[in-house]
Amino acid sequence: MTGRLGVLDSMTWYRASISDIPKFAPLGGDIDVDVAVIGAGFTGLSAAIDLARGGKEVVVLEGGPVGWGASGRTGGQICTGYSPGMEKFIRVLGQEGAQQAFDIAEEAKRLIVERSETYGFDCDIRWGYLICANKPSQMPHLEEYLQELESFGYTGCRLIPKEQLEAEYLGTTVYHGASFDPGAGHLHPLKYVLGLAQAAEKEGAFVHEHTPVEHFEDGTVITLHTSRGRVRCRQLVLATNAYIDGLHPPIARRIMPVASYIIATEPLGEERARELIRHDEAVADANFVVDYFRLSSDHRLLFGGRCSYSGWHPKDLAGYMRPRMLRVFPQLEDVQIDFAWGGHIGITYNRLPDAGITGRHGNIRHAQGYSGQGVALAGMMGRLIAGDILGTDDRFELFTRIPHMPFPGGILARPAHTLGMLYYRLKDLIG
Ligand SMILES: Cc1cc2nc3c(=O)[nH]c(=O)nc-3n(C[C@H](O)[C@H](O)[C@H](O)COP(=O)(O)OP(=O)(O)OC[C@H]3O[C@@H](n4cnc5c(N)ncnc54)[C@H](O)[C@@H]3O)c2cc1C
Repeated sequence: MTGRLGVLDSMTWYRASISDIPKFAPLGGDIDVDVAVIGAGFTGLSAAIDLARGGKEVVVLEGGPVGWGASGRTGGQICTGYSPGMEKFIRVLGQEGAQQAFDIAEEAKRLIVERSETYGFDCDIRWGYLICANKPSQMPHLEEYLQELESFGYTGCRLIPKEQLEAEYLGTTVYHGASFDPGAGHLHPLKYVLGLAQAAEKEGAFVHEHTPVEHFEDGTVITLHTSRGRVRCRQLVLATNAYIDGLHPPIARRIMPVASYIIATEPLGEERARELIRHDEAVADANFVVDYFRLSSDHRLLFGGRCSYSGWHPKDLAGYMRPRMLRVFPQLEDVQIDFAWGGHIGITYNRLPDAGITGRHGNIRHAQGYSGQGVALAGMMGRLIAGDILGTDDRFELFTRIPHMPFPGGILARPAHTLGMLYYRLKDLIG
């Protein structure tokens, strides 16, 4: 499974920055458990922690190493709310349901801190988040965005005019102002996902990496087949997100895997790094196709963005991304790019998360399609899945009420969607 993504699967700065990555043994034969979880990312591991804590016998099966999917290669930005904003939630769930969904997204941020404190792992959490306007016409949108947050009871954010942004926050003149959110931020995602895996084991779950599930048979007892053994379980959690491939076509059709790329510069030294982002915030721009960046703990700039809806990837990711970075920070012309990688984001048609209960016996749950905002949400959805299985929390049901349009015809319909996305990209450039 590893290497399947070719150029996207290059060494990440995250992996290179940890000297003692823990190993989790592959499955060693046939087993019976209460719950099997496929996918060791934020969703699956978070579900496993709470399920094991709730007394279930749980196994997590991961095709690559733990965190091999989006969770171990993401931009690591901890965002507030949901990627399309709250209006769509109001439309599909009503005001009360939307408020509940917003509160869950807030709890998602607190859950990261709770996990790291409960299980004693550090994942370099930093608070503070800027969304920058690429053109003056985006400032009113940012203002509306902050008003929307306030209407959901989220206060403390403010608008920052261009002059102040340049004088006090960022070492660039390309933006026309920003919004500042003190309650969002960034983290080291691989440290976080590995911390979750160790926490799941502490709670008694089995975590097996390098164990791809080839297929499974539905039933009151579900049987998962891997080359290393079979797993029989009464409940199955699909936490595979954009890496689901052919494992479950109806669920796979509800999301579109979109590639995003990240580069990491050589270490810049603290002083030079702080000239770029003075207070260590996470930064994103306000475009539909977002540029996002932040500093690493060893004072590199991690700069992400672009995206591919088509499955085509540039051979030279660093060369492809570097001009984007230089557009924002031309002063980095002399700086070397040490790492470049990519990964797949799971996007739904309406960009609202997709969660559901399927299977002939209603014993297969999934959560996916966080549409670029899963760093906090995925862990929370794992918690809600666990609560649903344990019967201790009924909030998973809220997300199962959100209707999702499958990408019709699967892969064949995707060129049409790619054209749709090109439209938004043009809008970013012109409008
Ligand atoms: C480049 C990039 C940047 C991003 N930036 C941000 C950001 O800044 N902020 C933000 O909030 N979100 C961001 N995201 C999105 C976020 O990372 C994801 O929403 C989140 O990590 C999803 O977690 P997950 O556990 O659901 O899925 P994943 O982490 O993708 O885990 C799914 C796992 O399932 C495994 N799997 C799949 N099929 C099988 C099988 N058959 N057998 C066994 N295992 C299998 C995969 O190997 C994979 O490890 C980014 C994503 C990418 C790719």
